[in-house]
Amino acid sequence: MFCYLCGKSEVLMDGLCKNCYPKQYHILTVPSNISVKICAHCNAKFFDGKWVDANLIQEEIIYRAIEESIIVNPSSKNPVIDMNIIQIRGTIAESVVEATDIVCGVEVYETHDINVRLNKGVCPTCSKRNSNYYEAVIQLRSQMKKIDDKKKDEIDVFIDKYLDKLYIKDKLAYVSQRVEIKEGVDYYIGSLKSARKLSSAIQENFGGVITESERLVTKNRDTGKNIFRVWIAIRLPSFFVGDFIEFEDKIAKILNFDRKKVSVLELNDNSVINIFWNKLDGIKTLKSSFDVEKSSVMSKSPTILQILDPKTYEVVDFPISQDIENYSIGDEVDTISINGGLYIV
Ligand SMILES: [Zn+2]
Ligand SMILES: [Zn+2]
Repeated sequence: MFCYLCGKSEVLMDGLCKNCYPKQYHILTVPSNISVKICAHCNAKFFDGKWVDANLIQEEIIYRAIEESIIVNPSSKNPVIDMNIIQIRGTIAESVVEATDIVCGVEVYETHDINVRLNKGVCPTCSKRNSNYYEAVIQLRSQMKKIDDKKKDEIDVFIDKYLDKLYIKDKLAYVSQRVEIKEGVDYYIGSLKSARKLSSAIQENFGGVITESERLVTKNRDTGKNIFRVWIAIRLPSFFVGDFIEFEDKIAKILNFDRKKVSVLELNDNSVINIFWNKLDGIKTLKSSFDVEKSSVMSKSPTILQILDPKTYEVVDFPISQDIENYSIGDEVDTISINGGLYIV
């Protein structure tokens, strides 16, 4: 056997000697032109009939497309492959793929030019988003006539952050429209699923009552099916944690709340009661936590603690109970005056 290139008599592989074999060797097979269809808005890639991998940066899309188009010679054991985008002209990314490997003890280096054409289209998610598509409307309202501006801002920020998180799994987790009206704010949300999650999260953080209603919007012209949209109303409470309220003739301080209930401390006997959100209308806000005033203990007997009313400067008697037995004369106490009565809080 002789090497078919140089005629040497020691053939190593594929009819070639150990000098000629590495010269003829190809580490990679690289096409010179490839194309990828991507969404012009979110960079999702159209692959196998589906839009995938949204929100990658353009360079990453190009590198992944090159990677997928390269075929590595199965005889190459440890190829080192390097990809570089030389320049992007219009929709074409002119790129270079370099590879090195050791073949028969000799380092082989090769370089390939590859042009990646980016065909831009619009994925269905972005086309819905651009046409203001929505499945649900969250109506933010308040127990009071209008929502406090500061709270509105706080909730706007909360919604932005929360939808960003949901967007990873639900591409329709967006606000397609935000409409401010006299009674509150309406948020048009791309998907019902995300609108429901979002409204639960708002309730958990800001309290309130949720009611949901479905409305027939239109009939789909092609399928004849009815299209429903869902309206989710969240009525925010008029109180904050630390405020003082009246509920069923009891005067109480708001301790905290969760999705189901409000926990309050009754001021007359210091007992904690839970009020479910569906009783929101029975809760009347009397004083804010900012109305708490400092006063001091004037005198103390085994049965009575006397405190100066900071408003009327009258001395008020409190029968000694477990909750106040540790106060001594001169101690500072927090008080709130509600409906003519003074309470230690
Ligand atoms: Zn040879
Ligand atoms: Zn898109």
